[in-house]
Parts: sequence; structure tokens; C-alpha cells
Amino acid sequence: MDGVARMSPAQARQRQAGATGYLTIDLVAISRNYEAIAAAVAPIKAAAVVKADAYGLGADRVAPALYRSGCRDFFVAQFGEAENLRPQLEADSHVYVLNGLQPGAEIACAEAGIIPVLNSMEQYERWKSTALAQGCVLPAVLQFDTGMSRLGIPPEDRAAFATELAHTSAVEILFIMSHLASADEPDNGQNTQQLAEMRKIAAEFPQFGVSFANSGGVFLGLDYHGVLTRAGIAVYGGAQTAGKSNFLRPVVRLEVAVVQTRTVPPGTLIGYGGTHAARSEMRLATLAAGYADGLPRCLGDRGAVYYDGVRLPIVGRVSMDSATIDITALPPGTLTFGSLVEVIGPHQTLENLAKSAGTISYEILTGLGHRYHRDYL
Ligand SMILES: *Cc1c(COP(=O)(O)O)cnc(C)c1O
Repeated sequence: MDGVARMSPAQARQRQAGATGYLTIDLVAISRNYEAIAAAVAPIKAAAVVKADAYGLGADRVAPALYRSGCRDFFVAQFGEAENLRPQLEADSHVYVLNGLQPGAEIACAEAGIIPVLNSMEQYERWKSTALAQGCVLPAVLQFDTGMSRLGIPPEDRAAFATELAHTSAVEILFIMSHLASADEPDNGQNTQQLAEMRKIAAEFPQFGVSFANSGGVFLGLDYHGVLTRAGIAVYGGAQTAGKSNFLRPVVRLEVAVVQTRTVPPGTLIGYGGTHAARSEMRLATLAAGYADGLPRCLGDRGAVYYDGVRLPIVGRVSMDSATIDITALPPGTLTFGSLVEVIGPHQTLENLAKSAGTISYEILTGLGHRYHRDYL
């Protein structure tokens, strides 16, 4: 067996870094994905959602790469995220805070040039007072609830907003927005219901453009695009909506090192709780990543990793710092201390890993641990 020829790039780098897990984040793929989305929605603008540290991949690296690809509109969830991101971007970019205007953050928000997404009249009033106190016009986005019941101005407050906005100019509304609850299911009737509600709102506020589409919404078509789309997961290569997103490239690769191997006789119990008993003689390898590194505990006896295209099932429970895999399918001696197996890569997509954990790619990405050596391509 030619070990060197089989070495992946991460394996080669391992010799230098000495880490036990390698997360490779392809910034070029992120840029290409963004550019593909931007081209798909042109001539309108494509924003990027970089909340939760760019879905766990590092907003400080991802956002500047997106900027270089032409992105000028960046959404985060929290004010603290916006405060960190704002100085890293050029002045011609916009940073929006989806979760609203946090009480106490008004002046800092105004001074940093961060744009709040206002989700209620109360938030609007605080922003207006801030503008009046500072003697300036402050920008904002208004979010309306069109049926998700999560964030945004409820239907019964719309009339008051329409009246208010006709009389005040202290707050400049850049556009209005809403969020789709089921955009990843193109046939879900909730999409057309929300679209109908959004059209009603657009008619009530004809002076403003609309932002409506997340990644799934981008693939729902022109009706959903408005003036600015807000893709997140598609930029990170995690959306598989109805096969329409095949042009998106995978962004992450995760390889984890073996830290011990053993051969066990039939009947041997494996892992916490002894939940897995070897049916016959088995060869096992212990991997240096567990649920603290974002390998969901529910992958125990359900998930797998790959080596050279061979599926190696996770056996027994996933521990905090390790997981045990069945390597009986590989020739003896193939894996030794330091060998890297594929957790996310060409044989197991992010989406497939998420499926075997009974979750979605978003949760896997944002849960990726901080003990991996991170390589940005
Ligand atoms: C997270 C989020 C997005 C991005 O959603 P994706 O499904 O990742 O594209 C867009 N808009 C809002 C309001 C969000 O909360």
C-alpha cells in the first residue's frame, strides 16, 4: 500500500500542523457560489447572510471574500456580530441586523453605520428618537411577518406604519422585507400564501422595494426575488433545493485523524453504555472528534465516515472527544495513528451527513467545532 500517494492535501499538511482534525474551507467555492447566485438573480442585487460567524465558517474570512466577489449587502442576526463585521468591510457595504434594534444599542448602531431590521413599532420609535436626538436621518429596513410568526411587524400594525411613514423622514427605509418559512420545499403551499401576503404589503407600501428570498426563495423564481435576495446556505454549498442548485460547489471538507486502532473478539462492548456489541471479530478505529467537535451524538450506530471511498460505520455512542468506527472492511494495517478519514468530502456531502444525523446542513455547519485546524483555500 502506497501511503504517500494516498495522502490527501490535508494529510500532507497534518505533518506540519500536528492537529487531529482538519476543516478545509474553500473560499473560492464560496465566491463562485455567491457569483452564481448573483448572476441568477441579476439585475437585482444579491446580499449574503453571514450570521452565526458565516454559518460557522468564519465571517472574518468569508465576508471579505464575498466583498471581492461584488457583494455589498451583508446580513447578520445580532448587533454584536455587526459590530465585529462592520470594520472589516469597505464603507460602500451595508451590514444589517436581522434580530432587530437591541435596546441600549441605538447610539452604537447609529455611530457604526449599522442598519437595523426593525421588527416592531417600538423598535421603529426608538430608532426615530435616536435619529431626532442626533439630528440626522438614520437608515433602516422594515420586516413584516407574512406567516412565519417569528420576526416582523404583525398585520394589525401595518396601517399605523403606513400613516407614520407618510409623515416622518427621520428614518429612511431602504427596503421592506419578509422571510419564507418553507422555501426549501418548492411545492409547499405556504410559499404562495406568503407571496400573496407579501404582495399585499408591497401594495400598502408602494414606495419601497421588497427583499423576500433566502436561498430556497432564489430557486423559487423571479416572483420571489424583489430588489434584494438574501442567500445564506446556498453560498456555503449546503442547499440541495429540488435539484435546482446543482451549480453550487461544496465548500467544506472535514477530515479527522485516527488516534487508536484495535481488534476485538465477538461480544465485545463498544463505547459508553455498551450499546454496541461486536457480532463477530471486528477491527475498530477511534477518531479524534466527538460531539464537542460537532459530530452529533445521534450519529452513534447510524452515521459513517469514509476512507478511500469505503464506508466505515460509526459504532456505539459518539463521545465528547472521540467516536469509534468499524474498519473491518479495510485491509488490516490500512489505518494507523494519524490516518485521516473523511467526515465531509467527496464521498459524504454535508447534506448527507446532516441527513444521517436527522438534521439539516445548517446545524452541522454552525456546530463545527473549534478544535479543528482550519485551512482556507
Ligand atoms: C438565515 C436567514 C436567511 C438566509 O437563509 P438561507 O436559508 O440560509 O438562505 C435569510 N433571511 C433571514 C431573515 C434569515 O434569518
